[in-house]
Amino acid sequence: MIQTIGYAALSQNSPLVPFNIERRALQKDDVHIEVLFCGICHSDLHMIRNEWKKSIYPLVAGHEIIGQIQAIGPAVKHLKIGDLVGVGCIIGSCQACPSCQSNLEQYCDKGYTFVFNSIEIETQNINHGGFSKAIVVKEPYVLKIPSKFQEKDLPRAAPILCAGITTYSPLKHWNIGKGSQVGVIGLGGLGHMAVKIAKALGAHVTVFTTSSQKVPEAKSFGADEAALSLETNSLQPLAGRFDFLLNTVAAPLDLNVYLSLLKREGTMCLVGLPAEPYSSLQADPLIRKRTNLAGSLIGSIQETQEALDFCASHGVLAEIELIRPSQINQALDRMVKNDVKYRFVIDMRSFD
Ligand code: NAP
Ligand code: ZN
Repeated sequence: MIQTIGYAALSQNSPLVPFNIERRALQKDDVHIEVLFCGICHSDLHMIRNEWKKSIYPLVAGHEIIGQIQAIGPAVKHLKIGDLVGVGCIIGSCQACPSCQSNLEQYCDKGYTFVFNSIEIETQNINHGGFSKAIVVKEPYVLKIPSKFQEKDLPRAAPILCAGITTYSPLKHWNIGKGSQVGVIGLGGLGHMAVKIAKALGAHVTVFTTSSQKVPEAKSFGADEAALSLETNSLQPLAGRFDFLLNTVAAPLDLNVYLSLLKREGTMCLVGLPAEPYSSLQADPLIRKRTNLAGSLIGSIQETQEALDFCASHGVLAEIELIRPSQINQALDRMVKNDVKYRFVIDMRSFD
């Protein structure tokens, strides 16, 4: 066993507290990683507060992990002690179903193993995520941090492991490139990465935000335009404009309003996963322009490596507030109030 420490939620109402964690002893294809940085995603908040009604306590969240390898099992082939690596949401999958066979393990028929709050196959225990000083993960689920990232970039690269890949994957799947008209709804952790990645892919990007103070910031991240989404007057002129809308909002917006902004055969993809259901969907905006409403789940391991390499070569990094582990609760409270620019990242080296 490897003894380590992290921050756990003991119930959905209580603040996170320091918590002793036992990681499994290294198996042959395991990698023991010292966690250096871990981003805080809104999914961590949904899980900590049991908003998706599937949380098991004690719960150690964290799925945007960058760390350094401390030890490896004897069958580990492509990684070595000292390597800088990343771990995202996926740490296991059946490897046999059509999705796994197509390198799409996020859609594994048996359900992929999430990095926390899942049953760890090897021990049958509930596993714990990256709000901790160390983690043990099988080699096939460990990503390489591109050498183009300098040491100072590492905390800003951590959010690529979820916010980055969750926006990169649908942008690639729907063939976004030069000339595409893309709208990003919600400028939070996912949204600001979507803007940067869509711009790097060559798209014309419009941000829809509820926060007027984010308009100039959206433009500084590369957005060509920004509209205040609570003002319906600002949306009407954009009707029929977009090839692709990426909805990153953690609240059930009126989807009909946004569907009417799509071009004929355009697509709105949902990645935001609000705890409450969406209100009724009208058929009219879908039918009149043969538009599509879709969803997308993170991205595969192979695609996450591609996203890391893409971000490294295009200089895409998250805008972050680096915090100490003891500031996690304050950060979660600020995230609820939509008060984060634009991702909290925990510096696990300063565990106190
Ligand atoms: P976040 O940093 O909190 O950002 C969400 C943004 O949504 C906010 O910054 C805000 O942007 C907007 N927003 C929040 N409440 C709103 C409301 N009531 N009405 C309208 N806009 C609102 O969250 P995140 O980490 O980016 O995550 C966003 C969502 O994606 C969460 O539900 C998360 O669970 C989900 N997620 C899904 C996947 C996947 O695989 N599909 C992966 C990761 C995360 P403005 O201030 O610009 O309006
Ligand atoms: Zn996430």
